[in-house]
Amino acid sequence: MFRAVLVNDPFDDPAVYLDSKYRRDGILFDLGEIRNLVPRNILKVRHVFVSHAHMDHFIGFDHLLRVRLGRERPLFLYGPPGFLDRLENKLRAYTWNLVENYSDDFVLVATEVRRSGRITRRYRCRTGFLPEGKEETAPFDGLLAEERLFSVRADLIDHGIPCLAFRFEEKNRINFKRNVLDEMELPTGSWLMDLRQMILEGDPDDTPVRAWWKDGRGGTTERILPLGLFRERAVKISSGMVISYITDAVFTQENVRRICALAAGSDLLFIEATFLHEERDKAFLKRHLTACQAGWLARLAGVRRMVLFHFSPKYRERQDEILAEAEAAFRGEKTPEPAADETVGNTDG
Ligand SMILES: [Zn+2]
Repeated sequence: MFRAVLVNDPFDDPAVYLDSKYRRDGILFDLGEIRNLVPRNILKVRHVFVSHAHMDHFIGFDHLLRVRLGRERPLFLYGPPGFLDRLENKLRAYTWNLVENYSDDFVLVATEVRRSGRITRRYRCRTGFLPEGKEETAPFDGLLAEERLFSVRADLIDHGIPCLAFRFEEKNRINFKRNVLDEMELPTGSWLMDLRQMILEGDPDDTPVRAWWKDGRGGTTERILPLGLFRERAVKISSGMVISYITDAVFTQENVRRICALAAGSDLLFIEATFLHEERDKAFLKRHLTACQAGWLARLAGVRRMVLFHFSPKYRERQDEILAEAEAAFRGEKTPEPAADETVGNTDG
C-alpha cells in the first residue's frame, strides 16, 4: 500500500514522494529541492521519475546523490529526451577519487525516454560514474517500470520542450480476513508476507504454505497448508491505487488529449496550477496551466481527487483563490476557453 505526499509547500519546488507502507520502497516524482524529505525516506527511494530538467525539477539530484553515496541500494532514474547528457554533466561536476573507501558501491541506472525508444545507461560510484558497458535500447510503448507491486506509465507532453507525465498503478491489494484466520487457529505473523507474495505471483493451489509462530516457550509452532485453502477462504483482493502526476504543460488540444488519456480514472491526480486564470495568456506563454484549466482537466479525466501544486510565488497571499478556482472547474461550474490548436514545442524527442 502506497501513500503519496507533496514533499514541499505548493509554492516551492515540485516533488511528490510515494511511500510504501509495508516495504522498504519509495518513489519520487520530480526532483526539486528535497531537503524536507528525511534521510530515512531518501534511503528508501528506488525509482525517481523526472518530468524535465528545468532547475526547479532537478536541483534535488545533488542532495539525493549525497545521501545515497556509499549505500548499496541501487537507484533507478527516468527522464525526458536529453536527460542522460544532463545527468552525466552533473555527475562529472564533482571529483570522485577516494570513493573506493566506501564499504558499498552505489549503482545508478538511468533511462532517457523518447517516443522513438528508451536508452538506459549504468553508472557506478567506484568508477567515478563513467557510463559502464554498452547502453541498452528498447522500444517505448508507454510502460516505464514494471515491478512486483506496481507499474509506472508515462507520456511526453508539451512544455515548449518535451516533458514527462506519469501514471503509477499499484497492483491488486491482498488483505487477509482476520476472523477466518482466527477460526483456522492461525496467528498472524511474517508468514503472511510470503503468502501474499505467492498469491500475487499466481502460484498453484497445491503450493504448500508454512504458517508459523512463536509458541511462547521459546519454540516455534508451524502448520503446512495448501495455498488454495487460503485463496478460497481467507483472502480479500481489492484493486490498488492509481496516482497520476502532471506538471509543466501548455494548454493545447494535444496536451489535453494526452493528459486525459494518461490520468483517466486516477484515484489521485497531482496537477500543476501555476497561474490564476486571469493570467491565462501569461500561463500560455510560460507553457503552464492555470488553476481553472487544471481543475477542468481533472474533471475531464474523471479523477476522484486532485492535489494542486507548483503555484507561482506571486500568489502567496492568494492561495485560497487558486484552490477555489480549480475546485469550481473540477465541479463543472467553470470552464476554460478552448485549448490552443497548435503545437508549441517538439515532443517527439
Ligand atoms: Zn516547473
